[in-house]
Amino acid sequence: MLEIKTREQIAKMREAGLVVAAIHAATREAAVPGATTKDLDEVARKVLAEHGAKSNFLGYGGFPATICTSVNEVVVHGIPSAEVVLKDGDIISIDAGAIVDGWHGDAAFTAFVGSGHAPELIELSRVTEESMWAGIAAVRNGNRLIDISKAIEGYIRRQPRPATGKYGIIEDYGGHGIGSQMHMDPHLLNYVSRKRGKGPKLVPGFCIAIEPMVSLGTAKTHVLEDEWTVLTDDLTWSSHWEHSVALTEDGPLVLTAVDGGKAKLAELGITAAPDPLA
Ligand code: MG
Repeated sequence: MLEIKTREQIAKMREAGLVVAAIHAATREAAVPGATTKDLDEVARKVLAEHGAKSNFLGYGGFPATICTSVNEVVVHGIPSAEVVLKDGDIISIDAGAIVDGWHGDAAFTAFVGSGHAPELIELSRVTEESMWAGIAAVRNGNRLIDISKAIEGYIRRQPRPATGKYGIIEDYGGHGIGSQMHMDPHLLNYVSRKRGKGPKLVPGFCIAIEPMVSLGTAKTHVLEDEWTVLTDDLTWSSHWEHSVALTEDGPLVLTAVDGGKAKLAELGITAAPDPLA
């Protein structure tokens, strides 16, 4: 059973999404050489408090922080730590969430720490981000869940291959329904699997977090002894981008983008739904 949201509920999710966007802006600025990932968590806590929002990450399955900070070969779920000091040349994915009046937002981005990153890292992040937007563009009335997976995978596979051989589309993690909880049905694969059907039809009120994770090598991952940190098996670096998206009668609304996805969707020939808070 999918949770179909009313307009009022989508407006609440938009509020939560804008808190997540504010966490992104603040942590992006703070992700500089010399900062620790714990510093970034403190920045996120402050933004949550300023907005009177709650964290959906803190305490989730025992997770000890308000954001995930995943550096270089860490794919997702990195735990902020005073021991992890960001260095010039690192890449970091920051995944953040917020709850407003019981409604959830969840989004992630990859940032470059310092400067002088290899072109293949810049391209890795670009391909991952653009594949997320290709997935968002497939959130339309009448499509099925598999159309989102197809759009994400299709985008990645159409790109020139990296010098390392092939992009790894991480297999063990994917997107998810979101709303009255952070993680809900349906699970969204970032690739098409013959083992799965076409999935549910997308209708107004359907909300989903779309989050491709891509490496410069393998699609396989393992979890460290801390039971959270997910690494690529071959330790190649990876990128992670995520937005929470609502489908409305008027098309998609990117809940966690400041402009609701307007500018980026326009580039793709799609009109974003009007902002319910505007
Ligand atoms: Mg998520």
